[in-house]
Amino acid sequence: MPKKPKKTFQTLKGTYDVLPQDQKYWEKIKAVLKNLSLHYGFSRIDTPVIEYADLYTSSVGEATDVVQKQMYIFKTKGKDTVALRPEGTAGIARAYIEHGMINLPQPVKLYYIGPMFRYEQPQAGRFRQFYQAGFEVIGDKDASYDAQVINLFIKICYGIGLKNLSVKINSIGCKQCRSGYRSQLLRYYRSRIKGLCSDCKKRVKINPLRLLDCKEEKCQPAKINAPNIIDSLCKECHDHFKLVLEFLDELEIPYCLDQFLVRGFDYYTKTVFEVFLEDEHIEGGSEKTHKRSSLAIGGGGRYDYLIKMLGGKDVSAVGAALGIERVLDAMKQQNARVSDLQKSQVFLVQVGELGKKKSMKLFDELSSAGIYAMEAFGRNSISSQLKIADRMGAKISLITGQKEAIDGDVILRDMETGAQEIIPVEKIVKVVKERLKK
Ligand code: AMP
Repeated sequence: MPKKPKKTFQTLKGTYDVLPQDQKYWEKIKAVLKNLSLHYGFSRIDTPVIEYADLYTSSVGEATDVVQKQMYIFKTKGKDTVALRPEGTAGIARAYIEHGMINLPQPVKLYYIGPMFRYEQPQAGRFRQFYQAGFEVIGDKDASYDAQVINLFIKICYGIGLKNLSVKINSIGCKQCRSGYRSQLLRYYRSRIKGLCSDCKKRVKINPLRLLDCKEEKCQPAKINAPNIIDSLCKECHDHFKLVLEFLDELEIPYCLDQFLVRGFDYYTKTVFEVFLEDEHIEGGSEKTHKRSSLAIGGGGRYDYLIKMLGGKDVSAVGAALGIERVLDAMKQQNARVSDLQKSQVFLVQVGELGKKKSMKLFDELSSAGIYAMEAFGRNSISSQLKIADRMGAKISLITGQKEAIDGDVILRDMETGAQEIIPVEKIVKVVKERLKK
């Protein structure tokens, strides 16, 4: 006898089930993502959710929160140190190198959707297993691709039905201009360290750029007057950024410059951006349902050194990722239009052994004709089956009892009026199709 479990199981903290009632949102997101990505020349890629942990330490960065605090990392029985992927870009860069994609016509454009894992404190819009959809353009440094990635991001959001998006954009330069800026920033912060939060005190030592995106109240006065990185850009980075903005203007994508936007990962160079939902006016909502969202629904940027850092050639790239949970939440809040998944309208009712056999056969015939049917083959009484049909919203029930099975008939019951008629089984598919059209 199996032992009775001591407790009932629940999802792990920060994880969740995607229940049937939410699938229609997911289907819409996936359909729009696939359709638009293909239009823009992106091919789908799926990489494993588990990789060598070093992949992330050497790309996302040793000193980042994601690697330091949030990575699910463990040793396998074979003594490999592996991690559940905290983000998608590093795995795709690894795949680009591993599969010699440099030999394909460049740039290589890839898109993905899948779960990511970060050991964060769960709260609204923050999970430990969450989903991202993203796209990467690997193999070209042209500023038009930065704009194309932002454009595709926005198009996908609008395609899904979101409104009121705003793009924040910045350039964090290249190695050269960034090192000068870092020294300048450190000089500026030297006399202000005392007033900073404990995280920023650490950032001064390990990741000074992240001082700029601290959200703590006490760090704001210092932040506000910090030197602007744009003023430190070298000519190449400056011109690149100018071009990105000009392309966005041409594409009529509104944006605002944000000198404090640096993004969390080490691999970023030049353009970085994030997309937010502006004031959320919820249709038909009251004052209470009008709120400002401060969480980004996604973001991205250029990562010109990543492929080389991972052992590949000197190849430039740019990409972005959007957080599916936040997009889905926004779809609900903004009443985005989603159609219900195809719902079945036909219910098969059977009585007796022969009735069940014929009914099972009919189920297959309907399915081959493209008609989804519902059933409760485990039930025997007509009334309980009809009750279920009613609860499931069936328009028609097809009843096969012992007599109908022998005579080669089916009883068609209109669930709204209760009217019943006997139809020869060989005509039933045609009749059902006609009735469903009405
Ligand atoms: P990042 O990879 O940190 O740049 O995040 C890109 C997007 O993924 C964010 O803007 C969020 O929409 C989403 N995201 C990041 N972390 C989480 C999380 N823990 N839970 C849910 N969504 C997340």
